[in-house]
Amino acid sequence: MEQAKKDLGKLAILELGRDLLLGFHCKGCGRYEPVDELLGKVDEAKRICEYCGKTRDAEIISRLDRSELQADRPLSELCVPQGEVLAVRGGKNGDRLRLFELTGDVERFWG
Ligand SMILES: [Zn+2]
Repeated sequence: MEQAKKDLGKLAILELGRDLLLGFHCKGCGRYEPVDELLGKVDEAKRICEYCGKTRDAEIISRLDRSELQADRPLSELCVPQGEVLAVRGGKNGDRLRLFELTGDVERFWG
């Protein structure tokens, strides 16, 4: 992963290869509920706010870049299993691609 940072520079983007539901934000009452589950595993009915009954907005990511808060979090928290091969994009135009197998040693992508 150190090599990834060197090779790909500051623009590196980590492709999760899946949609991750970070949480629900309710416009009705302003509440935010963190979820951190794969999108497919979350029941549609959970979109309904239990406080005010409105449909909540889902906050979904499928990639990480340095500007995002989630980049500081361990990948296991983001539902990426160990042994998973992840793609990292970088270079000036995002046209350089590297593949990395995730192991216990490199749980924190950005270090
Ligand atoms: Zn609400």
